[in-house]
Amino acid sequence: MSTRAPAVEARNLIKTYPGDVTALNGMAVTVETGKVFGLLGPNGAGKSTTVKILTTLARPDSGTATVAGHDVLRHPDRVRRTIGVVAQKSGADPVATGRENLQLQGRLYGLTGAALGRRVDELLERFDLGHAAKRIVKGYSGGMQRRLDVALGLVHRPEVLFLDEPTTGLDPEARAAMWDEISRLAGDEGLTIVLTTHYLEE
Ligand code: ADP
Repeated sequence: MSTRAPAVEARNLIKTYPGDVTALNGMAVTVETGKVFGLLGPNGAGKSTTVKILTTLARPDSGTATVAGHDVLRHPDRVRRTIGVVAQKSGADPVATGRENLQLQGRLYGLTGAALGRRVDELLERFDLGHAAKRIVKGYSGGMQRRLDVALGLVHRPEVLFLDEPTTGLDPEARAAMWDEISRLAGDEGLTIVLTTHYLEE
């Protein structure tokens, strides 16, 4: 895979919903590899619809899109293998520990044994959750839960990470920490990050 191709390239996306709702009317977007790209807009602007199309969860009426060089309509399976998705609503099991959540996610992506253990430890450390690895997620603070969500989205080392409203509901300190982490992921690891937010100042 050439790293020179844009991480995300969408052209002319049109998406309508029943009831004459035009969610996207010719949306175009290009995101270069290693960048953090924010889809900014008020509720109803079409951010979620765009992300759904780019993550292969919805089909556009017309238009084209590639993610990490793979066509979302022709090769959705390849797209899914190369992306991580962190939804607004946590995907973590609240009554399992942080470590158990990461282990399960790793197994879903085919990691086992020592490789799984190493990846889980790495992510716990990187997201500052090592001290809470054995605690159940229900007792985590909002910031810790969000960090675990992002860690879960990174288990399989995706090339492009989609984050839906990563800082919504966090206090200012946790928000700042999340932004630091997002910059670090894009800067140090060459990960491309596409996020949605309705906070203009972000
Ligand atoms: P955002 O994420 O920016 O809030 P959305 O992509 O969710 O925007 O929505 C764009 C438009 O499409 C809105 O008018 C919304 O009401 C409409 N819409 C989104 N999903 C559906 C759906 N499943 N059925 C009908 N209308 C929808």
